[in-house]
Amino acid sequence: MELYSLTIHEAQEKLRQGEISSVELTESVLERIDAVEAKVGAYISLQPELAVRMAEMADERRAVGEDRPLLGIPLGIKDTIITHGVPTTAASKILDGFVPPFDATAIDRLRQAGAVFVGKTNCDEFAMGSSTEYSAFHPTRNPRNLNCVPGGSSGGSAAAVGAGEALGSLGSDTGGSVRLPASFCGVVGLKPTYGRVSRYGLIAFGSSLDQVGPITKDVEDAAILLNAIAGHDARDSTSLNAPVPNYVDEIKQGDGLKGIKVGIPQEYFTEGMEPGVAQTVRAAIDHLADLGAEPVEVSLPNTGYGIPAYYIVATAEASANLSRYDGVRFGLRQDGGDMWNTFSQTREAGFGPEVKRRIMLGTYALSAGYYDAYYLQAQKVRTLLRQDFERAFEKVDVMVSPVAPMVAFEINAKVDDPLQMYLTDVLTVSLNLAGVCGISIPCGFSEGMPVGLQIIGPALGESAILRTAYQYEQTTDWHKQPAEL
Ligand code: GLN
Repeated sequence: MELYSLTIHEAQEKLRQGEISSVELTESVLERIDAVEAKVGAYISLQPELAVRMAEMADERRAVGEDRPLLGIPLGIKDTIITHGVPTTAASKILDGFVPPFDATAIDRLRQAGAVFVGKTNCDEFAMGSSTEYSAFHPTRNPRNLNCVPGGSSGGSAAAVGAGEALGSLGSDTGGSVRLPASFCGVVGLKPTYGRVSRYGLIAFGSSLDQVGPITKDVEDAAILLNAIAGHDARDSTSLNAPVPNYVDEIKQGDGLKGIKVGIPQEYFTEGMEPGVAQTVRAAIDHLADLGAEPVEVSLPNTGYGIPAYYIVATAEASANLSRYDGVRFGLRQDGGDMWNTFSQTREAGFGPEVKRRIMLGTYALSAGYYDAYYLQAQKVRTLLRQDFERAFEKVDVMVSPVAPMVAFEINAKVDDPLQMYLTDVLTVSLNLAGVCGISIPCGFSEGMPVGLQIIGPALGESAILRTAYQYEQTTDWHKQPAEL
């Protein structure tokens, strides 16, 4: 078995036993990158020398008896997350050449835990998209079928893990961007509760929706990464000041799934769903029942308003957040003579078409005459969606659904049809609008491509969804079928 194909917890064990060194592990990942990256395109930038140096340091620390949760583990980081001294572009030309002078809190915490950083992963520009085709640099391909998209927007992070080009990675999820690519690539992706992980240093898209989340080969690894990055941060006023349990201990507790009520939201099994996806997820629900869970039909009646409300709120917030890219402070600058021409020419040259579309939509939704008609309405829908979840969670512990109505589609299939692209998120955006948590785990295949099971939990219900996911995973082997490249 090649070292790059280990999970984080398997690698930890071998590092602790002294069977392998972090340098060996990191070099195995770097060799894998050399072998497959030209096909997959998971990364925007690679820092192999830095990675080997970090690995050497990890080995030295271990040699003097230090042990930390991620000591010597090579990870990939989505390029929307700020990394000190390493270029960070959010896959946009407007940030080309930007080298941040600080770390995001999540990165800072991974460093404290001893992690090794291999490179910055590709994504849709400013995390706007569902296929990683809106990257200003290059598309990423799905390691399970190179003709298909990896999903988005954290497509590079999911493809890197799926292809063995990192042991785990961080993505960011505003409307599904961790869960969708995890589902399309057959790996695990967790969107934490809003506020569970600090957003400090996450390049803002929709500030009331954004969360950093781990993408990994299995559920235990997701718990390990969440342990490292979760918790209150004084630098993010929206971060929650709630204790962080040890999620690795939490997932192994309980007697199977006995007594766990699993809600099945009827609105999440929509008509347009691919039959293979529906069948696979239904089979997964039967399996949960075999493990002792009690399936309960529930209703989230306002689900149909999720997509319209999301695309008002997310674009409105994006239009404000992206106003800071003006050629003065970071990245690209197109000199236009005077100030206003410099601003507009920089933005004209630096932003891609999807980002421009969203800035226009968001500016329109916030404009004086339309604020009440769009933004205010969307905020009201948001309250209704939150109440839907609260009511359902009075009856059940977790809920399950597909992550998306389809499996990974072919490259170019939706790139010219933004509305079709937006619909891929129909089963994920409501969680962000309501601020609750969700995880995507592999639960089978349809048309040869992976299907993701979404397990949804209430606010701060990470232990419950991870435990359910872990029990499912322990008794299935969908996560043990690596992509053949
Ligand atoms: N696909 C959704 C969008 O385009 C979600 C993106 C995300 O979660 N970052 O907005």
